[in-house]
Amino acid sequence: MRITEIYISIQGETQYAGLPCTLVRTTGCDLRCGYCDSAFAFHGGTDMSLDQITAEVARLGAPLVLLTGGEPMRDFTARIHAGASDFLAARGMRRIDHELPFWSIEDPGRRILLVAHAGTNSVFMCHLLGLQPTPWEWDRFVFGHASVSRLEALPVRDGFTFSLTALSSLEHIARDDRTR
Ligand code: SF4
Repeated sequence: MRITEIYISIQGETQYAGLPCTLVRTTGCDLRCGYCDSAFAFHGGTDMSLDQITAEVARLGAPLVLLTGGEPMRDFTARIHAGASDFLAARGMRRIDHELPFWSIEDPGRRILLVAHAGTNSVFMCHLLGLQPTPWEWDRFVFGHASVSRLEALPVRDGFTFSLTALSSLEHIARDDRTR
C-alpha cells in the first residue's frame, strides 16, 4: 500500500475528539475537490506492507487509528452493483437479459432484509429498479437514520419488476426519537 504519512495527532472530529490518534494517510486520489486540504498526497508516497504499517502504528501507541487520504468512494457504485448481483444470485434472483429491468425470481414470496448505510441502500435499490444510482453524497443527507425502504416484486410477463413501496420510512420510530 502506498502511504504518504503516518503520524500522531489529536482527533478533532466525532465522539473521539480530543483523544490522541494515529493518522495513516494513503497516497493518490483521482478527484480534485475545490476544498481539498491534502493535495500533497496526490503523488509520491512510500510503498509499505501491512506489517510495516501496523508496526509503525503500534510504535506510535495512540489509542485511535484513522485511515485517511485518497478517494474512499472510488468505484463505490460499481462495487455495490457487483456485490448486489452476487448477493441476489445467491438467493435465486437474476436480472433477465432485457432492456427493461426484469428479474427472474425463484421464490417470489421470499423476503430479503438488507441492513446498510444510506449510500449502499441507494445503489442497491437502483440496482433492483434498473435506474442510475443517485449519488450517495446526496442521499446520505436525505435518508433518515435507521429508516426503512421497501421494494416489492410484481409479476410482469415471464419475470418480475420491482416497485418502490416505501422510501426512508421512519414510521417504526417514535417521533421524539427520530433524528430528523
Ligand atoms: S476526495 Fe479527498 S483527497 Fe481527493 S481531492 Fe477530494 S478532498 Fe482531496
